[in-house]
Parts: sequence; C-alpha cells; structure tokens
Amino acid sequence: MATKEQMARAVEGIRARMAQAARAAGRDPADVLLCAACKTRTVEEVRESALLDIDLFGENHEQELTEKSDAGAYLGKPSHFIGHLQTNKVNKVVGRVSMIESVDSEHLLRKVDAAAARLGLTQDILIEINIGAEASKSGVTPEGLWPLAEAAEAAANLRLRGLMTIPPAGAAPDETRAFFAGMRGLLTRLQEKHYQTALPDTLSMGMSGDFEAAILEGATIVRIGTAIYGPRDYGSRP
Ligand SMILES: *Cc1c(COP(=O)(O)O)cnc(C)c1O
Repeated sequence: MATKEQMARAVEGIRARMAQAARAAGRDPADVLLCAACKTRTVEEVRESALLDIDLFGENHEQELTEKSDAGAYLGKPSHFIGHLQTNKVNKVVGRVSMIESVDSEHLLRKVDAAAARLGLTQDILIEINIGAEASKSGVTPEGLWPLAEAAEAAANLRLRGLMTIPPAGAAPDETRAFFAGMRGLLTRLQEKHYQTALPDTLSMGMSGDFEAAILEGATIVRIGTAIYGPRDYGSRP
C-alpha cells in the first residue's frame, strides 16, 4: 500500500508528464482528465488519493464501486465504471457513476437505457473498442461500433460521449501508438455523423505504461492505477 507521500509525489509526476505530452501535441493540458483506476484499493487509500490532483475515479467492479461510494471515499469527485459490466449489475451502477465507459454490446446498452429511464436520468456512456481485435478482450470491433452508436442515438436515456479502449498488453510502443491513432480516427468519424443527442467529445485511453502516447494521439481521459497506488495485490482482498 502506497503512503500518502508516495501517492502525492506520484500524482505530481504524472500530472507533469501529462502536461508535457499535451503541450507536445499542441493541446491544452486542462483538456486531459486524470482518472484514478482504483480497483483493489481500499476505502482509505482512495480517500487519501482523492485529496490529490485527481479528476475522477474509475471502478471495474460494482461491489467496490458501491462500497467506496457509500463510504464517501471519492470525496464528491465523479466516478466512472470502466470494467466489464454484467447485466445483472446494471441497476446498481446506473445513476451512481457519471459515465459508463465500457458499453460493448447492444444487450448491455438496452439494459443501461432501461435502468436510466426508470431513474428518470440520462446516462453518459462510452463504447469500448477492442482495437487490437483480441479474442480474449471485451469491447466491439471498429466495424461493430456503428450499429452500437446508432442504438445509443436511438435510446431515449443514453448520451453517447465517445470511445474507450485498452490496447493489447504486449504491443510495442509504436504499435500501441498506432492503435491510439486508430481510436482518434474512429472518434472523428463518430463526430462526423452529426448525431442529434450524442456528444462524442471523449476519448478514454492510456494507462500507467502508455498514457503519454495516448495523449499525443488525442486522449481526453487517461486511466491510471499502478503509477499512483503501486502494484496491485489481488490476493489481499476477499
Ligand atoms: C486497471 C485498469 C487501468 C489502469 O491500469 P494501470 O496499468 O494500473 O495503470 C486502466 N483501465 C482499466 C479499464 C483498468 O481495468
């Protein structure tokens, strides 16, 4: 578990590198949000980190989201759902997070829309793209984006805000950068559809090992876990 001081130093360093990458791309550093990917981290760790220069929190599991948000661990900062969302957990997640970044099927999309309708709210979503076409990964293929975007546009209680991806873990840096560039191309094409309700301004990509490349290619949210909190210990949680 990282100490307060370690986390503070880490976030300061990440912010400096984020700003440098943004400026190198001719972008305003304020246009890139830092999402702390806090799966497996305790309520206490997350609460300590919320005092730092973090914009929002990303959770992968409904139970952790519920536990930490009920405990007030985010100190009022927004949270996003970034993991694979099982349809039987949708009701517990919709309305609790400001954005669901990992919508990757029409079935899930309809469940999220129905839950948002019941609560009388509009849920912001991203569509997750499996940019490396990996058999084991969630996310739709780039071709699969279009029917899903149409379905989101037609859904009364969803607002499509853009795209999210996790590139293949073993890829070389130039390959990863090319995947990020491909994502930017998809977002541009999505914007060119000129949908009525969609507001595709968000590109969530880049993690501890590759966030600078992601920012150079247009990321507006980077999701960072290990570089803030240290290595994850999956064994320490029940
Ligand atoms: C865990 C996770 C991250 C952060 O990964 P790190 O390599 O620890 O920075 C980002 N996005 C998603 C979807 C994750 O599950």
